[in-house]
Amino acid sequence: MREIILIKDGELALKGLNRSTFEDILIKNMKEKLRGLGAFRFVKSQSTVTVEPESEDVDLDEAVERIEKVFGIVGISRAAVCEKDINAITETAYEYLKNDLAFARTFKVKAKRSDKKFPYDSPAICDEVGGYLLSRLHHLKVDVHEPDVTVTVEVRENYAYIHANQLPGAGGMPTGTGGRACVLISGGIDSPVAAYMIAKRGVKLTAVHFASPPYTSELAEMKVHELLGKVSEWGGRVNLFTVRFTELQEAIRDCCPEEMFTVTMRRVMMKVASRVAAWQGADALVTGESLGQVASQTIHAIKCTDVCATLPVFRPCIGMDKSEIIEISRKIGAFDISIRPYEDCCTVFTPRHPRTRPTPDYAAEVEAMIANEEALIDEAVKSARLKVIDAYND
Ligand code: ATP
Ligand code: MG
Repeated sequence: MREIILIKDGELALKGLNRSTFEDILIKNMKEKLRGLGAFRFVKSQSTVTVEPESEDVDLDEAVERIEKVFGIVGISRAAVCEKDINAITETAYEYLKNDLAFARTFKVKAKRSDKKFPYDSPAICDEVGGYLLSRLHHLKVDVHEPDVTVTVEVRENYAYIHANQLPGAGGMPTGTGGRACVLISGGIDSPVAAYMIAKRGVKLTAVHFASPPYTSELAEMKVHELLGKVSEWGGRVNLFTVRFTELQEAIRDCCPEEMFTVTMRRVMMKVASRVAAWQGADALVTGESLGQVASQTIHAIKCTDVCATLPVFRPCIGMDKSEIIEISRKIGAFDISIRPYEDCCTVFTPRHPRTRPTPDYAAEVEAMIANEEALIDEAVKSARLKVIDAYND
């Protein structure tokens, strides 16, 4: 039996005239994700894209699993393809769905007829298919309100498609429709979640990671690569820049009051990341900050660090509790990597009593104490090393 995948696109419907362009980007993204799995044909029609394998040996389970991570899709169904003949439709519905229906108590049939020349209208298709299934599967009952299984028959231009149990898509907007942002990525739990949430809105990602060798280890950097690998399974290629932060951190330790170490470090991070973001053509920064989670994430501390960014700063986790952030972290497969215990540069020189209500003026005064700050920032920006992270094209 020939099987295909039916994709329902979501917010794309809101895009009016641009719809076709958006769908083209969605198809390009699916093609990239399915690379290596065989040849597929993509056909757009009426807020649906059909993905048809062009050979028999394609692993459709793996294809569906990958498509579940493509942004811009609300629903995914595997469907059987059959001739537009009512007997073929009823027989295919039985053969294709008999295993699903064996475990169901109730079902209903939903029909959509976009080919108005097909001699049966939608209610007639439902009657034929429902009647046939009842005649073959005696345990089944019809329930039009809350059925265990909904059998959907779509009669389209060339073929009829039969499916049940639509899977939820990843939601969001197709990657590449929302510009580029630069995420400040640590090895923690929050920033990979923030990266995923911004990617979900169609935004391509550049990432900056600050490493302070020898205080931080190579393992900590590998952890960041792996975390971005998870984000890349959803949002596509990520350009990661690893920046050497050692000299700046030592200068902060040597020149600034201890209670201001973290806020000063964050201000400097914002400056370096703004510059990397600018030459990557990114239009915003992204952090994993959550209001009040730690001293450097109070509203006062954020006010002090925000002024150092030359781009808007998006903080998708700002209003979330840790448990809510962890839920998303688990969903994207990042959590088990994030909890590996390697030092981040933020935990290297942690003040014993951080100031929780710094003012921007005071923070600027403290930052001005760093000897040669401009030169150190230039050096840090120059140290940025690029690694491309691409989960499906390595
Ligand atoms: P995370 O789980 O993302 O590390 P966190 O709750 O541990 O967050 P902090 O360590 O205070 O918070 O960091 C706040 C934000 O600063 C992070 O979410 C991240 O965006 C950025 N950040 C922290 N450390 C680094 C780093 N080494 N490189 C790049 N960005 C960093
Ligand atoms: Mg952290």
